[in-house]
Amino acid sequence: MNKYQQFFNDKSLEFAEELYKRADKELLQLLKQQKIDRDTLMTQVANIMLKYEIKDSVLNLSNNDFKKVYQEVKLTVVEVFKEETEKEINGLRELLITIGQDKFYSSSFLLSLGLNFKLQKISEKALEKIINKKINGLIYSDRIWANKKKVAKLLQNEIKEFLQGNITVNDIEKVIKHRFNSNASNTKRLVRNETARVQTEVNEVWAKDYDIDWQMWMATLDDKTSKICGRYDGKKWRRTDPNKKIPIEDSHINCRCSLVSLPSEDYKPKFRRDNQNKEKVNWQTYEEWKVGIK
Ligand SMILES: [Zn+2]
Repeated sequence: MNKYQQFFNDKSLEFAEELYKRADKELLQLLKQQKIDRDTLMTQVANIMLKYEIKDSVLNLSNNDFKKVYQEVKLTVVEVFKEETEKEINGLRELLITIGQDKFYSSSFLLSLGLNFKLQKISEKALEKIINKKINGLIYSDRIWANKKKVAKLLQNEIKEFLQGNITVNDIEKVIKHRFNSNASNTKRLVRNETARVQTEVNEVWAKDYDIDWQMWMATLDDKTSKICGRYDGKKWRRTDPNKKIPIEDSHINCRCSLVSLPSEDYKPKFRRDNQNKEKVNWQTYEEWKVGIK
């Protein structure tokens, strides 16, 4: 093994982390939009409170006013969520394309240092297949639609309750915030999970294209790593082994592990990163590391 291959193994996790950072940046943009949407709705609700009679801390609307106001708010919810859904689908798609391309390319780049072979990009077809993979019958955009539809429906009902006097003027802000918080958690979970899934699957395509023989599970050395991932850390499999474990598929959502390509079966990286204090440490498995920090 040459020093370039060693560099490859030491660096591949840092590259993975770089890609996660990029995902977090896009995520931040999506969450900012959600906050704008939340405030649009809150303003509308505040204006209703100013305009109509409040009796014993609840709105007191006539039947006609209720119908009119409810239609207006419903329309706002529908429009806001329609736009938000489209933005999230487009944003996530763009992100997954860049992450997929960069994952493949950075793996090639790292392996090619000091070696003489042609850099290739992942084919558009292979990447599209990964991005649009159905899980339990749904692709990422179906999931975004379904999540948004559910949140919008609940929000509409909550505002209806408010307009009918069943939720107080003091509570409605909390109710709307709570609903938007679950909207944000849906988006966070989905973006992180899809990002990790695309990375893992592109990694498999890459390893196959370059005929990699051995792969090793690498978890992150910090206290957020789950038990199952900690136990897999350092385990090696032949790429074609049917019993090979694959991050997410065999672990859980929000898993940050990677299957790192090895130059040979007995290869062991010299160092790795302790993510708890961001320091370089001698190679050790997660379980050894865990014992060490106690
Ligand atoms: Zn994991």
